[in-house]
Order: sequence, then C-alpha cells, then structure tokens
Amino acid sequence: MKKKVDKLITDAKTEIEGVESSKELEAIRVKYMGKKGKITALLKSLGELPDEERPAAGEAVNKGRKQLEETLKTSRETVRSSESAQKLRSQSVDITLPAVDHVMGHRHPINRVMEEVLDIFRGMGFSVRKGPEIEKDYYNFEALNIPKDHPARDMQDTFYFGEDTVLRTHTSPVQIRTMETEQPPLRIVSPGKVYRVDYDVTHSPMFHQVEGFIVDDRITFSDLKGVLIEFVNQFFGEGTPVRFRPSFFPFTEPSAEVDIGCVMCSGSGCRVCSDSGWLEILGSGMIHPEVFRFVNYDPEKYSGFAFGVGIERLAMLRYGIDDIRLFFENDLRFLAQFS
Ligand SMILES: [Zn+2]
Repeated sequence: MKKKVDKLITDAKTEIEGVESSKELEAIRVKYMGKKGKITALLKSLGELPDEERPAAGEAVNKGRKQLEETLKTSRETVRSSESAQKLRSQSVDITLPAVDHVMGHRHPINRVMEEVLDIFRGMGFSVRKGPEIEKDYYNFEALNIPKDHPARDMQDTFYFGEDTVLRTHTSPVQIRTMETEQPPLRIVSPGKVYRVDYDVTHSPMFHQVEGFIVDDRITFSDLKGVLIEFVNQFFGEGTPVRFRPSFFPFTEPSAEVDIGCVMCSGSGCRVCSDSGWLEILGSGMIHPEVFRFVNYDPEKYSGFAFGVGIERLAMLRYGIDDIRLFFENDLRFLAQFS
C-alpha cells in the first residue's frame, strides 16, 4: 500500500510541476483528491484490507494525502501570482496618451437672461409665482379687462382650443390667479412661456415673458418708475438712458412703454433702433380698477402697477442677435458661443 501511495504522489508532483494555470491545477486536484480521485479510491479500498494491515495502510494514505495537499497549496499560490502579474501587464494603460475631450454643456442664453432678470427682482423683494400655459379665456382675457372685441383676441394672434381655452398669450393671467387667492401687499414676478401666432425675425410662436406686479395701499406711478429704472440700471448698466412713453393696454391705466437708449449706437441712430436712438424693452402701467373688481379688491383702497418684459428681446439686445429664431434652432455652433 505504501508503495502505491508513493507512486501516486510522485506522479502527481510531476504533473503539478508542469502546470501553468489555476485551471490545470484544479484538474489535477480533482484527478487525485476528487470524489472519484485516485487517492480517494485508495481510502475507500482500505475497508477491504485484512484487519492487521489496515492501520499502517491508513496512515500511509493519509500522510500521502496531506503531502499532496501541501504541494497543491504552494503551487496554487505561485500560479495565482504569476496570473495576476500577467493580467496587470495586459491591462496596463498608457498614461502618455492624450485624454478624450469631454464637451461641457452650459445653460441656454434664454435661461441665463431669465435667471438674471428674476435675480434682479428677487433682490427688490419680489417673489416668484407660476401659472399654467394652457389657460382659460377668462384668465387670459376677460379678467384682464380685455373685452370680447379687442384685437388681441383675434384668431390670428391666439392659439385656441375650442371656445374657452387658449395657449396663454402673456404671463398676466398669473396676476389674476394670485390676486384671487392672496391679499395685498403683493410683490410678484411670474416667468414662463407664452404663445402667439407669429413668426419672423423678431417674433416666435413661443417665447418667454416675465410679468411683474405690486399691489398695496398708496402705490403710485413713481413706484413703477423707480422699480423699472432700477431694473434697467442693473440689467443694462448704471446710467442707461430710460424714457416712459404713453401707451395703451386694456389692463392698465395709465399705461407706458419703457424705452432705453439704443445699446447698439448709443443713441446716434442705427438700423436696430430705426434711427430713433431708442429701443422699446417693456410694457407697464397702473393696474386698471376694473381688474381689481374682477378679483374683489377695493380699487378705492388698493393700487398697484404691472409690467411685462420679453426675455428674447432682452437677450437679443444683450448679445447683439438680430434673429429670434436662432434661439430655438438648437444649432450648437450658435449655442456654444454662450458657454
Ligand atoms: Zn441704434
């Protein structure tokens, strides 16, 4: 029996010496020590031996098995470390190669200008309210004192869904929605998308507006002027010329359009300002008493002003862009200039 064991161990060791991978090594382990392995078979055969031979034979087999386990263990460690060294070599990275250039995204020019405008008004104590883009006729027109026959209701200007529902044509409905649910004093700006049937170099069917309004007792036209001049100074720079030009809107009385000195020609006259030296940037006025009646505010007690400014218009002046459609064509060559 001892001879048999020695022979097996010698054979196994010879096989182990030639091994290069842990897979081969495992095959050898199974061949000798597995369920149907050669050593295992010897162990099983012990039972058939005569009683007097059994202890010595058992000791020999066990000793051989231990020896083989030791050899396998040592060999396994050697094979593994050479395998991992090889893996590292094959997966090495050439750190001198130039890096892949990751293009960073950035905010859209309209969003940048929108954020800047809101920041200016937040700085003056305004808070932000938002409203739905699909709006009831009542909020978009009726409650803003825009009578049934007003040209702004013309099918050519407004996207209608049936009789009573429209894509809002301005952010002013938020004024009504806010006054319906909150009491003065109010100091609100409302940013968002608005829609009109219009498409050329200065008009887009979708554009962005910020509506702002203040309601309190004793709000006067000089408050309106103070707030809007401060806005112009912060957005276009200190000392920008501003003028208030009488105008008409159904929801304000009196109404004024606000012009600034042309940022292109500094007032000497150019194509952008049609040689007038002035650029219109927003509409404003004292909130009409009729509008207050729609929301059950007492016009004898409260007064207020409102204004609306187009964000695309501001962005075009800020960046010297002469076609509004460039903002929405998503041409990366255009957009990348605002990073
Ligand atoms: Zn000009």
